Amino acid sequence: MMRLPRHAALLALTISCFAHSAWAEGPAATPAADPNLAFAQEFGDRFFKAYWPLHPDQGIAVGYYQVADRLTVLDARERTTELRFLDRQLARLHSYQPDTLDNAHRTDQALLENELESERWHLNGLLDWQWDPSSYNVADSFALLLNTDYAPLDQRLRTVLKRLRYVPAYYSAAEHNISKPTREHTRLAIDQNQGALDVFGPDLEKQVAGSGLSTAERAQFHTRITAARKAMNDYVAWLKALDGKLEQDGTARSFRLGRELYERKFAYDIQSGGSAEDLYQRAKVEKEHLISHMDQLSDELWPKYMADAPKPADRFDKIGQLIGKMSEQHAARDNFVGSVEQMIPQLEQWVTDHQLIDLDPSKPLQVRQTPSYEQGVAIAGIEAPGPYNPGAKTYFNVTPLDSYSPERAESFLREYNRWILPVFIIHEAIPGHYVQLIYANRSPSRIKSIFGNGAMIEGWAVYSERMMLESGYGGNTPEAWLMYSKWNLRSVTNTILDYSVHVQGMSREDAIQLLTHDAFQSQEEASAKWRRVQLSSVQLTSYFSGFSEIYDFREKLKQEQGANFDLKRFHEQFLSYGSSPVKLIKQLMQKKVE
Ligand code: ZN
Ligand code: ZN
Repeated sequence: MMRLPRHAALLALTISCFAHSAWAEGPAATPAADPNLAFAQEFGDRFFKAYWPLHPDQGIAVGYYQVADRLTVLDARERTTELRFLDRQLARLHSYQPDTLDNAHRTDQALLENELESERWHLNGLLDWQWDPSSYNVADSFALLLNTDYAPLDQRLRTVLKRLRYVPAYYSAAEHNISKPTREHTRLAIDQNQGALDVFGPDLEKQVAGSGLSTAERAQFHTRITAARKAMNDYVAWLKALDGKLEQDGTARSFRLGRELYERKFAYDIQSGGSAEDLYQRAKVEKEHLISHMDQLSDELWPKYMADAPKPADRFDKIGQLIGKMSEQHAARDNFVGSVEQMIPQLEQWVTDHQLIDLDPSKPLQVRQTPSYEQGVAIAGIEAPGPYNPGAKTYFNVTPLDSYSPERAESFLREYNRWILPVFIIHEAIPGHYVQLIYANRSPSRIKSIFGNGAMIEGWAVYSERMMLESGYGGNTPEAWLMYSKWNLRSVTNTILDYSVHVQGMSREDAIQLLTHDAFQSQEEASAKWRRVQLSSVQLTSYFSGFSEIYDFREKLKQEQGANFDLKRFHEQFLSYGSSPVKLIKQLMQKKVE
């Protein structure tokens, strides 16, 4: 149900994109006396000017349209070009001694190094461009160019026209690259590329017809759309034949990553310094903690909610029945947006009154209904301006439940019941993602806004939920803690599931049992999660990984500083380094930069 906030979604956009032509890199700058100044010059706009031509789709996604008329055709030559670029940039990056840089640049350097090494590993180690056919899809960037009002329509259409030229070559390179794919990614590619045809349908023809394009341009448009549609249809037909063959001869690759690739991907994506296996062990311990706590709370609450109903001996049955009953208390369907809206000032007040963190009164969060073209993705989330559009406003989008069937609306409202809904808003907005974003924007860094660490971002949001409850928000009642624990169990279980499936070969049946029985999730939620774990890896561990790192660090400082520990100061200092990996923030806060 929950969408990643806009800024976190961008993090998922790494890798697998390559330029089709040479790019321009300026000559190396004369070394400035101050290494910080030199670093800022080299790895500010200058780096990205060389980077975007290799990644035009990612550029479009963050609002950089300078090279939007290009589409990267991923052939062997492009891979070589990309690898050379990465090697050269890494060498430049390593020419700066970390200890000569201030905190802001030191963290930028670490993030960029990790990003470039990760991209290199995708190309020559993970090889997902060979086994993931769903990594080839032209629709999203075209749709963004057509639907985002960044320039007059005619100008955007001309950009689209140029870009369309590359579509046939793009898909033939894809067919050339793919070998031994997974069946899951193959079927996803079939679905998504079939759906992608909509972008090149009658609506686009209509837009062109109503535009100021010349007759010749319109004719060219028609020819290129026809060719693009054919290329996509051919790709889908080719994949269907391939999928049939994979089914017959059993040569498909497993969607499970396996231990070695998983640990490596975990190191790049999470950047915690610890291993995935350690995190998995930690999550198992945490799961048992949560469930035994929920067991106690359920005994306490049973008479209040269940009256004379016989209490099951099995703790999972007991907790599940009680949560089911309590979930009846939820917002009214037609007042869902209003319920969320009204919570925002309450949370702001609480955070201020309890001296948890300074908010910026000049930037109140604006709640609005999700614009119609964005509906259908998630029920609520922060929409923050991209790094190339800093003047734009930040919104908290909430989607009304109007389009839901009565059953679906009821199931949704039960899930986001009167205890869970505030925790969800804490996570997304205050003092979760929104507040983190404001602090991050105070030290603007293009590197951090584009390559920021997802585990830190999600970890902060998950940490802020627990911290709010600890401060007494929700009245410190057994109800609040029981429901919070169910919610928190979700991120703990995500970690267990991801590792178990990708490293230990957990079956679908066991996965569904883990989610529905041990974590009290609905069948619908569990099925969606099973699909997600087959198609992604490691991302599901980011919530618990970031959370446990932040929480442990806070507890350690509390112990060391005793009466001198100041929670508000801790929060503000922690967030002052931007979206850096927690590991790095810890070092900087303890002045032990490696
Ligand atoms: Zn109801
Ligand atoms: Zn989040």
